[in-house]
Amino acid sequence: MKKVSVIPQFLALPFCGTALGSALPYESMTTPDLYKQHVLPTYGRFPLVPVRGAGCRLWDDAGNSYLDFCMGIAVCSLGHCHPLLVEAIRYQAGQLMHVSNLYQHPLQAELAAEINEHHVKIPGKIFFSNSGAEANDGLIKSARRFGLKRPQSNGAQRYEVLTFLQSFHGRTLGSMAATGQKKIHEGFDPLLPGFRYLPFNDIAALENAIRPETAAILLEPIQGEGGVNSATPEFIRAVADLCKKNDLLLFFDEVQAGFGRCGDAMAWRMIAPEVKPDGISWAKGMGGGVPIGSFWLSDRAIDDDTPLSSVLGPGSHGSTYGGNPLVCAASLAVLKEIREKELAVNAILQEVRIRETVRSWNLPVITEIRGKGLLLGIGLDPELVPTPEGKTPALVVVNELMKNGLLAPPAGPNTFRLLPPLNVTDTEVDEALTIVKRTLQSLVK
Ligand SMILES: *Cc1c(COP(=O)(O)O)cnc(C)c1O
Repeated sequence: MKKVSVIPQFLALPFCGTALGSALPYESMTTPDLYKQHVLPTYGRFPLVPVRGAGCRLWDDAGNSYLDFCMGIAVCSLGHCHPLLVEAIRYQAGQLMHVSNLYQHPLQAELAAEINEHHVKIPGKIFFSNSGAEANDGLIKSARRFGLKRPQSNGAQRYEVLTFLQSFHGRTLGSMAATGQKKIHEGFDPLLPGFRYLPFNDIAALENAIRPETAAILLEPIQGEGGVNSATPEFIRAVADLCKKNDLLLFFDEVQAGFGRCGDAMAWRMIAPEVKPDGISWAKGMGGGVPIGSFWLSDRAIDDDTPLSSVLGPGSHGSTYGGNPLVCAASLAVLKEIREKELAVNAILQEVRIRETVRSWNLPVITEIRGKGLLLGIGLDPELVPTPEGKTPALVVVNELMKNGLLAPPAGPNTFRLLPPLNVTDTEVDEALTIVKRTLQSLVK
């Protein structure tokens, strides 16, 4: 299992800068050099050059193997290159890849039915996008259409969407404006208007913030990028009550937390299962690695005979690629496997294993474990992590973990995340935790 495989020639030659006698100059450059020269520097990237993955393992271009608890940031729900997913993509690639949304291919309908009947289990309808940011843009557009149908008492449209500090909703102009983090907005003024950011889990602040123009409240049941912060049950219930009382839409951003990752098909059900949202967005884990996102709107009536799910009628929204046969085949394979193998249950079992093991170490550098299922944040005491200027404690630890063979992404300055695939085994969890313990012990001393 742990044997390091040799990279096949067709991968090693063109991508790793080892080609001999090549006529093309780029073939003699290293991958990081090619990035530097040709790719926009929008990311602070680690130097790792991954070339192959299988299950929980990832190999770099030098043949080093890593245990991957980053999984493309909670994307590869079944691990790397799960045989079912690979076969679904291979088969569909040879059958029909793309037809546009001018026509009705069976896989998009089947995937929507799978999500509605087996995962959301509330009557509603789905739009397919290519990413989480686009899915949230769809919810924002829906809120505005809703605010047109159900305007303010003076007849003016409602349009405002309330979101929360430390939230993350994406990088498009719409989803970026919805994101409650200054550093994400920096230099991009003027932002799309119609958003205000409120303290998370603060019921009174939310109550006071609602104005005549407010149309919706958008929140992550568990904030991922912002540091793995769970909404409290009281907060989610209060948000739902305030939405009812003020005729607002309740939107959950489940882009990172949804489809089994937090121990239930839907993350909010791990916190306040009785709550019924009006809209939900997803992406990341739903495709297992192919680019697919989606948003859902409830069928509930917003006036005498208009369901909310009809606010975006023909011509109001679209995406050329959205929900094409190839990505729908992949997503169907992933969601059926998650459901049939009850991988959400495994997420809970592994959460318990991780929490118990980490607690048993009694390491002062670990302040707490936040999150649910396999969306877990390990909080670090910044005083105990030797951190050079310009770095964060989380980055120091993440780099050190990588050196020791474990990939895990940071979440905010003082937290790193454990995001293994939903089918991770006891052995893999134990191996990862051994690396975490050894790394923290040698870092802190
Ligand atoms: C990643 C993420 C997004 C953005 O998704 P993209 O696919 O990167 O556009 C939105 N919301 C949450 C909660 C996320 O974690």
